[in-house]
Amino acid sequence: MDFKLSATERDIQQAAREFAEKEFPDVAREYDEKEEFPMPVWKKACELGFVGGFIKEEYGGPGLGFTGSAMIMEEFWRVDPGMGNLLLTSFGSEIIQNFGTEEQKKKYLPLIPPGKAITCCAVTEPDAGSDVLMASTTAVRDGDEYVINGGKMFITNGSIADLAVVFCLTDQKSGDRYKRHSFFIVEKGRKGFEASQLKRKMGIRASDTSELSFNNVRVPAENLIGGRENDGFKQVMYLFNINRLVAAAQGVGVAQGAFEKAVQYIKQRRQFGKAIASFQGVQFMVAEMAANIEVARNTLYKACWMIDQGKFDPMIISIAKLFAGKIAVSVTNDALQLHGAYGYLGEYDISRFYRDAKVVEIYEGTREIEKLTIAREILGRA
Ligand SMILES: Cc1cc2nc3c(=O)[nH]c(=O)nc-3n(C[C@H](O)[C@H](O)[C@H](O)COP(=O)(O)OP(=O)(O)OC[C@H]3O[C@@H](n4cnc5c(N)ncnc54)[C@H](O)[C@@H]3O)c2cc1C
Repeated sequence: MDFKLSATERDIQQAAREFAEKEFPDVAREYDEKEEFPMPVWKKACELGFVGGFIKEEYGGPGLGFTGSAMIMEEFWRVDPGMGNLLLTSFGSEIIQNFGTEEQKKKYLPLIPPGKAITCCAVTEPDAGSDVLMASTTAVRDGDEYVINGGKMFITNGSIADLAVVFCLTDQKSGDRYKRHSFFIVEKGRKGFEASQLKRKMGIRASDTSELSFNNVRVPAENLIGGRENDGFKQVMYLFNINRLVAAAQGVGVAQGAFEKAVQYIKQRRQFGKAIASFQGVQFMVAEMAANIEVARNTLYKACWMIDQGKFDPMIISIAKLFAGKIAVSVTNDALQLHGAYGYLGEYDISRFYRDAKVVEIYEGTREIEKLTIAREILGRA
């Protein structure tokens, strides 16, 4: 066992930290308040090679693997979660890289790292959340095309994306719910395809979240991912597993950032004639926060390392996501508590971190769904 980061991993971590610390703090509050995607900062992140980190070199990406990509996400979320989500502009490209035809990979993947295209991945619908196989947006073959009808909900980057990777029902009659869905690439500008931003989210407001509608949208048959219908179940499960680690990295990052803010604050804030850091009750909170972050980070890195070694383990992935979400919420809560009323009033950025952290327990599988996955790995489909 070797717990040391490689020289490359240390370099990635350092570069991501420097970029986020330079680019985010001055503008984070403004983008949060405006509920606007930070386009100029995203462009710089593309130029420096942070976007689409896991895209392989043969398709124009930096080929950092999942450990390297998770480290960038962690560092970005450490400085600001809403801004950090600018990295999600490659969302859906995991599906293209792992399941697309060679033509699809060559056509779309090289556009993503340099920022020539923003992608989104549309699975969730108003009535299909945790139960993704209830998705009822249909894609019906018509000659050399498919015609898509339906709607998607809560889609990250939906309003700013150039390409959507959309989960559709392609077999409406099959009794086997695991063999009814397929993914399609839908380009922006196709007639009948519209997106509208959902406003007033609790947190990560610099990240675009949108509702999509498809009204007789026609796409060429070659936009069917992998060229085969009804393979969507295994593809969507792969997507969730990969992106659970992205979310886990976010959880570790926001917890680390909040923790550092709290430590700094309690050393300078004085009550009863002393720095509040000197009170044992406060020290116990600090110790608990540090212990939780350390365990969450180790589990995250283990899960990423396993994927990079070709060992795909849904149980360790779900444990990493479940625990990172839990500590993201508890650490930001404690960090705000330690700031007292100044934290509550938004004098410091800690209240934004507190609002941002909650999403880690919701998207890419709620904490309850993670528990179901873990239990299923232990007990089987009881
Ligand atoms: C900011 C944001 C961005 C998002 N981005 C995307 C995106 O880019 N693409 C996309 O496709 N989706 C996206 N989502 C949607 C997200 O993945 C879903 O919200 C999530 O899967 C949960 O679905 P739901 O909200 O419909 O909750 P529901 O499934 O309705 O769940 C509601 C509650 O019931 C619980 N529950 C449900 N089923 C069970 C069960 N079997 N056992 C125990 N408890 C259960 C859940 O845990 C939860 O607590 C995003 C969501 C948010 C908030």
